[in-house]
Amino acid sequence: MHIKALKWFCLWLTMVPLASHLEAKVTKSVFGSMPDGTKVEIYTLEDGALKARIMTYGARVVSLEVPDRTGKVADIVLGYDSLDGYLSDPKSYFGAIVGRYGNRIANATFSLDGKRYHLPVNDGPNTLHGGLVGFDKLVWKGEEIPNGVQLTLVSKDGDQGFPGTLTARVRYTLEPHALRIEYIATTDKDTVLNLTNHSYFNLAGEGHGTILNHVVTIPADRYTPVNATLIPTGQLAPVAGTPLDFHQPTPIGARINDDNEQLRLARGYDHNFVLNGKTSIMQVAASVKEPTTGRVLTVETTQPGVQFYSGNFLDGTLHGKKGHVYVQHAGLCLETQHFPDSPNHPQFPTAELKPNQTYHEVTVFKFSTAP
Ligand code: BGC
Repeated sequence: MHIKALKWFCLWLTMVPLASHLEAKVTKSVFGSMPDGTKVEIYTLEDGALKARIMTYGARVVSLEVPDRTGKVADIVLGYDSLDGYLSDPKSYFGAIVGRYGNRIANATFSLDGKRYHLPVNDGPNTLHGGLVGFDKLVWKGEEIPNGVQLTLVSKDGDQGFPGTLTARVRYTLEPHALRIEYIATTDKDTVLNLTNHSYFNLAGEGHGTILNHVVTIPADRYTPVNATLIPTGQLAPVAGTPLDFHQPTPIGARINDDNEQLRLARGYDHNFVLNGKTSIMQVAASVKEPTTGRVLTVETTQPGVQFYSGNFLDGTLHGKKGHVYVQHAGLCLETQHFPDSPNHPQFPTAELKPNQTYHEVTVFKFSTAP
């Protein structure tokens, strides 16, 4: 071969693997229709062995295929095969973006700028995940972007009782071995906002038993203890000496039944951990390893907290993908977020958003394997 041609050939050879990592493949199809006929679309994102399907109803992660240590791929998030499954399950929030305020607001009320706002009551006396028709139950507008999909929702002033017209954008993109979620939002009046993703992971594959053998690490020194209706008491309590200390990698099942008031109140882990690092700067919130498959999930975020929820309220009545029965602890959530009920706790990092500000948060779910 001519020396110049050889040079070009060699350059091309080095670029081929590079190019396949630069762009994830994105395709779109229809997943189903809402009762009023609105079409729900589903976007498929593929990069090597990693594949994510995201639908416009609730901006939800519908499936997430990840290889194990032998290269065998499994779908590691709980959910349903069809839109109807999601529509008939208002309480689990599988894969959803929850908002306008993720987690609970005490007694369904808060004050902002001297005015009291009242929200729908949907969890004991409280508001959970934005009210009766939260962002998880709305159809977002989807649009393809490089390596992924952007979903947009306009929530009107007064929606579920919250002030201000809010425009929220969530961008799901694939990076090599990772799913990145970027949240951007603006408002036209002062409001409160707490967006997070509510995927339930089972790193052995959804429907493969419980997550009690998953080994969790959370590098947080403190958490926000809760009362009987799972509202933070306002304290930032040390995890040291409690079953909530996950500085050392520990199987979830090792202490979940310990004689501990916080675990009893929540029927397991359902607690917000206060991340040690500076808010707005990416830090590791948690990592989880599943010993039989070797799959490892590392969660990084700009958010100040992470709600570690061990699927306590799943009770075997839901039949998910392929008819799998989702028993208690069939999946775990790592919801990176502002602290629950922040609007009623001025000492917590503020969840207020003003018209001259742009809400911007990033969470990355990274996947690897361990021997
Ligand atoms: C909450 C749980 C709640 C669950 C609903 C989680 O984010 O922390 O208390 O039961 O969502 O699926």
